[in-house]
Amino acid sequence: MNSGKSKVAIKIKNLSKSYIEAGRAHSILLGTNTQICEGETVALLGRSGSGKSTLLNLISGIDIPDSGEIVIDDKIVTSMKEQDRTLFRRENIGFVYQFFNLIPTLDVMENLKLVLELNNTSKAQSEKQCRALLDAVGLRDRANSFPDALSGGEQQRVAIARALVHNPPILLADEPTGNLDQETSTEIWNLLDTLVRPLGRTIVLATHSMEAARRCDRVLELVQGELHDVTGKYA
Ligand code: ADP
Ligand code: MG
Repeated sequence: MNSGKSKVAIKIKNLSKSYIEAGRAHSILLGTNTQICEGETVALLGRSGSGKSTLLNLISGIDIPDSGEIVIDDKIVTSMKEQDRTLFRRENIGFVYQFFNLIPTLDVMENLKLVLELNNTSKAQSEKQCRALLDAVGLRDRANSFPDALSGGEQQRVAIARALVHNPPILLADEPTGNLDQETSTEIWNLLDTLVRPLGRTIVLATHSMEAARRCDRVLELVQGELHDVTGKYA
């Protein structure tokens, strides 16, 4: 648990976002505010369509808001030019998706190495980091398998390794177990608990899983464009 003295990792200030559909603005976030501390694990709940993915995409700088700010490590991500946001994301954010999003034509090792190639890591260092991460997620012997030869749970473990291989301080996950059965989901939550939390990473995960919510330090729920702290319900 975090005391009020912890350093803020992600500051969200008056964040608004709407989409134009058939000529009409459809508001998704209505001036959302929150702060997430370094090392904190936050579950983001909300009905389908409530804006969870939108919020994660804004935090990662994939998307930009209509107004308001996201501040990470004292940098205003929402004011950066697109190219700077991309570089910032590559260094600071790991992202895990519901449908894994591994590149099907690359084997497991190549999927991991790609991230480090983009960050200009040396070949020897890249090999070392990728092997260490594959070991950590228990897939050492699958380095040369292609994604479609792996089960859903194994693919998600590769995706988690890929999201962490460049040592980002922040891990975002968008319904990472949304496509997995109960038992495999529990394995993924265990992995996040044993591998990611001890490293002090800040984690924000959009989920419908009550099990995940119970394991997190804080639970936020998006309801009609506003974020509510509902941690007490899951204590
Ligand atoms: P969640 O992840 O909670 O299911 P999303 O953030 O994906 O919610 O979507 C919130 C709302 O915004 C939904 O109504 C969705 O249809 C709409 N939406 C999301 N992305 C776009 C887009 N690019 N263009 C138009 N509407 C969008
Ligand atoms: Mg979503």
